[in-house]
Amino acid sequence: MSSHDRMPVVFFGHGSPTNVLEDNVSTRAWAKITANIVRPRAILSVSAHWCTRGIAVTGMANPKTIHDFGRGLPAPLFDCQYPAPGDPQLAKRVRDLLSPLPVVLDHDWGLDHGTWAVLTKAYPDADIPVVQLSMDMTKPTDWHYKTGQALRQLRSEGVLIIGSGNVVHNLPRMEWSETAKPYDWATRFNDLVMDCIIKDQPEKLFDTDVLGQDAALSIPTTDHYWPLFYVLGARHDDDKVTIDPSHIQYKSLSMMSFVLHD
Ligand code: ZN
Repeated sequence: MSSHDRMPVVFFGHGSPTNVLEDNVSTRAWAKITANIVRPRAILSVSAHWCTRGIAVTGMANPKTIHDFGRGLPAPLFDCQYPAPGDPQLAKRVRDLLSPLPVVLDHDWGLDHGTWAVLTKAYPDADIPVVQLSMDMTKPTDWHYKTGQALRQLRSEGVLIIGSGNVVHNLPRMEWSETAKPYDWATRFNDLVMDCIIKDQPEKLFDTDVLGQDAALSIPTTDHYWPLFYVLGARHDDDKVTIDPSHIQYKSLSMMSFVLHD
């Protein structure tokens, strides 16, 4: 699928943390994505679960596994560890690429479940260095896209950029049933995002106010939406798109994942 000349970029729809404990259509798709690409020398992850004021990048040699989810989840999830090393040199490279934006080299965070839940399936050996980049929650969507553009160069340096979020993410409206039919608004918005990805029209997705009620219901908060824009920002004009899976789970949680590749 790719050569080391230009790494692909991957968006993971991570869904519920319980995917970690399951073998399902989504987790198998995540494993298939990475089985089909050249092994990266490092991974830069933008997770829905690290929103900050300003930008931070994990600068430690050994990031800890953060269990940043509610107490109600199964106990084995809290025992999960993803002991991948960090990459302080990559953290500094990210800081330089984003200059003149100020980027803090962080030593407190680590790998949150937006990152390790998918990497546990995608790279179960945890032997590829991982750096996380935070999202500045004070900025609009197009700013996140431009930040992704500034990181595109990393694709030529053996770095796999991943975004981990969900393009439809309405937890209060979710129903924990595998057979529940998705809400019409969730299906419409999922399809719209997919269409814009396929046609390379990210700008149509920037202004969520203009996108109306379907967007308001699908992304009541933008934290799980923004990782998408780092991936789209890192896109090359001639990248191809492979989307798998694309379904909606629990009525209002999109599991859409995709790869941009040459
Ligand atoms: Zn999440």
